Amino acid sequence: NRQLVLAERPKGEPTEDTLRLETSAVPEPGEGQMLLRTLYLSLDPYMRGRMSDAPSYAAPVEIGGVMVGGTVAEVVTSNVEGFEGGDLVLSFNGWQDYALSDGQGLQKLGGIDHPSWALGILGMPGFTAWAGLMEIGQPKKGETIAVAAATGPVGATVGQIGKILGCRVVGIAGGAEKCAYAVDELGFDACIDHKADDFADRLKDACPDGVDVYFENVGGRVFDAILPLLNANARVPLCGLVSQYNATALPEGPDRMGWLMGQILRKKITMRGFIIFDDFGHLYPDFAKQMQQWVESGQVKYREEVIDGLESAPEAFIGLLKGENFGKRVIRISDK
Ligand code: NDP
Repeated sequence: NRQLVLAERPKGEPTEDTLRLETSAVPEPGEGQMLLRTLYLSLDPYMRGRMSDAPSYAAPVEIGGVMVGGTVAEVVTSNVEGFEGGDLVLSFNGWQDYALSDGQGLQKLGGIDHPSWALGILGMPGFTAWAGLMEIGQPKKGETIAVAAATGPVGATVGQIGKILGCRVVGIAGGAEKCAYAVDELGFDACIDHKADDFADRLKDACPDGVDVYFENVGGRVFDAILPLLNANARVPLCGLVSQYNATALPEGPDRMGWLMGQILRKKITMRGFIIFDDFGHLYPDFAKQMQQWVESGQVKYREEVIDGLESAPEAFIGLLKGENFGKRVIRISDK
């Protein structure tokens, strides 16, 4: 059983020394347990937080512990009622070939076309987009929604839901290719490259009526450019801050806290952070039904980037935090 364990806590960007590949015997399932073989491992930005022991909403991975992660797995042998060999499940095996489970928290994936999509559009990231936008963003027809990381599993879904609801949708992404995809394939009204020198001006031009809902995925420079564009009564679902995850200190510069607070006050902005399953877990069945229908009808499209081999996961994860992914990044650990 190959496992990627946390070798050291990264300072700044994770490096090739952050994780270590170890090999051990395939575990034997005892009574009330089953053996799972990992087929797909999801790579997600939150994993950077688990590598750190800074205060967070979830406990860090211990040094020497297997890195955590959502997985699609096949049941090899089962001593758990209701599961049998060959079943596909959505599980939390982490970065390893095999894991034991008692069935708690597992979801059976009966006969779905693309099992790995349960890690993206039909799972946690899709749910994050839907719940954050609908519950906190509360978009109304004709309003303008802005979203960064616009071609990733969360951002792409936020924007496409916005279009279904009749909003103007402005994406923000890294590079011309991603921006073209957001407009041509996903149907966004505009998408602006945050790496461009005149990014803030171009964003302003793309939002002639200001921004009513800013779905925050990245923070940093993008938020600086958005804040002056927010309209009175704007809503900001604060979902993630991926531009800050590798930061080791606050940026240099004048203290802008007063300016930020003043904008929030004068424009009566609602900004609310959320942790998807803590806050909205009870809505999952509603999401699953709705999204299944949108995906089947082609109203919501999904782009996935599959990378082969557990050993590729560390580098693929480092790249994810820098925007090297184009679509949802998953690692294929083993074929069914
Ligand atoms: P993505 O697949 O979109 O990957 C992250 C993307 O962030 C990169 O591809 C890159 O896209 C962009 N990015 C990286 N650095 C910067 C930067 N400095 N400035 C601007 N953009 C940058 O990730 P997900 O869709 O899986 O997740 C999106 C966000 O949602 C993350 O912040 C994540 O932590 C958060 N999240 C929060 C949850 C919650 O419960 N609150 C649950 C799930 C996700 P590009 O090249 O286009 O810039």
